[in-house]
Amino acid sequence: MAEAFIGLGSNIGNRKTNIEEALRRLFSTPEIKVVKTSSLYLTEPIGRVGQDWFINSAVEVSTQLSPKDLLYLSQKIEEQMGRVRTMPWGPRIIDLDILLYGSEIFEDNELIIPHPHMHKRKFVLVPLAEIAPDVVHPKLNKTVSELLHQIVVKDTQKVELYKE
Ligand code: ATP
Ligand code: CA
Ligand code: CA
Repeated sequence: MAEAFIGLGSNIGNRKTNIEEALRRLFSTPEIKVVKTSSLYLTEPIGRVGQDWFINSAVEVSTQLSPKDLLYLSQKIEEQMGRVRTMPWGPRIIDLDILLYGSEIFEDNELIIPHPHMHKRKFVLVPLAEIAPDVVHPKLNKTVSELLHQIVVKDTQKVELYKE
C-alpha cells in the first residue's frame, strides 16, 4: 500500500458538486482508501485570465494501485465526468493531478511524480498543507508547509476558504 496525494480542481458548472463527484468516484474504487480530504478553496485562475475562479482541494489516499494505474484511473474519472480537453490550462469541469506518491520520484512521457509544478502553486499547496503539512517533497527535500511559506511571500494569487 502507498500513500498518495491527489489535487483536484474545477472551474466549470457546479464546481463544488464536480469536486464532490470526483471524490465519490475515487472513493468507490475498491483499490483506494481515503485517508483525508482538505476543505474546498476558492482560487483565482492563473496562467490564462478571463476564466472563472476555481474550486480546489486535495485528498490523501492509501492505494495498491501503481502510480500509472492511479493516473489512468484519474483520467478515466475526468473523461467520464465529461472533461473536454481544449487548451492547456483552460477551463475544465474536473482536473485530477497526482501530486505525490509516497516518496517516489518518477518521470516518463505521461507521468511525472512529484507533480512538476506543485511546489510553485499556492492553489495546490494551501489545500495540501491543510492535510499534510509535514509530508516531505522527495525531490526538494522540503515539507509542504516549507514549500508554501517559500511562495506565499511573492505570490499574489488569491486562495480563500470556500463558503456557501
Ligand atoms: P498542469 O499539469 O500544469 O496542472 P493540466 O492539469 O491542465 O496542467 P492536463 O491537460 O490535465 O494538464 O494533463 C496533461 C498531461 O499531464 C496528461 O496527459 C498526463 O499524462 C500528464 N501528467 C504528467 N504528470 C502528471 C501527474 N503527476 N498527474 C497528472 N497528470 C500528469
Ligand atoms: Ca492541473
Ligand atoms: Ca491534469
